[in-house]
Amino acid sequence: MGLEEIRSRVAKAAAEAGRAAEDVRLIAVSKVQPDARVEAVLGEGHRCFGENRVQEAQGKWPEFRERFEGVDLHLIGPLQSNKARVAMELFDAIHTVDRPKIATTIARLADEMGRCPDLFIQVNTGEEPQKAGCLPSEVDGFVAECRGLSLPVKGLMCIPPVEEEPSLHFALLAKFAARNGLTGLSMGMSADFERAIALGATHVRVGSAIFGERVPAAKA
Ligand SMILES: *Cc1c(COP(=O)(O)O)cnc(C)c1O
Repeated sequence: MGLEEIRSRVAKAAAEAGRAAEDVRLIAVSKVQPDARVEAVLGEGHRCFGENRVQEAQGKWPEFRERFEGVDLHLIGPLQSNKARVAMELFDAIHTVDRPKIATTIARLADEMGRCPDLFIQVNTGEEPQKAGCLPSEVDGFVAECRGLSLPVKGLMCIPPVEEEPSLHFALLAKFAARNGLTGLSMGMSADFERAIALGATHVRVGSAIFGERVPAAKA
């Protein structure tokens, strides 16, 4: 485990899929990790990170950014409208756009701010009631709606149900993306990122395999 090993596994999975390693972005998910671990990974030269919570990210990334140049920060957890402005100021990409209300809020703020992070639409591929994301039946309509708002939609994102074979969900997400002319695919975590790369992932979100286990009590 650790950054170097995960980097080489990403490269190997990409090569096996006949893809270039540079076409797969490794997002190091630093949520609830001690600052020292995050700093160590920054020290190894990695710059692309993911956080689940706006407030937690706000507490640590402005300072890291002052000390390390070129940080690329991705929001991979749920976004509430009242946190949208802060999130848009802090993050370079938001992977969890999943409903018309948040899309409208982001569009209004993007207008005001004159910029907008890259956006991914989260899809609840397993149709799990407790999980965020638009339903498979809503994807095409929601992509069109976001495009109608001139939002920079780069791709789709999913978190497969824990009990199911993730490849089925990755394949489904890839199909939805292709059908909508989207090239970005945010899928794959510590346990399954190689399978995600085989099915076209452009962004893999890897936390514990890089940093070590998260403190269970603080697990998001
Ligand atoms: C925590 C989290 C990850 C990383 O999970 P690991 O299993 O530690 O790699 C990826 N994606 C999302 C949305 C997460 O919340």
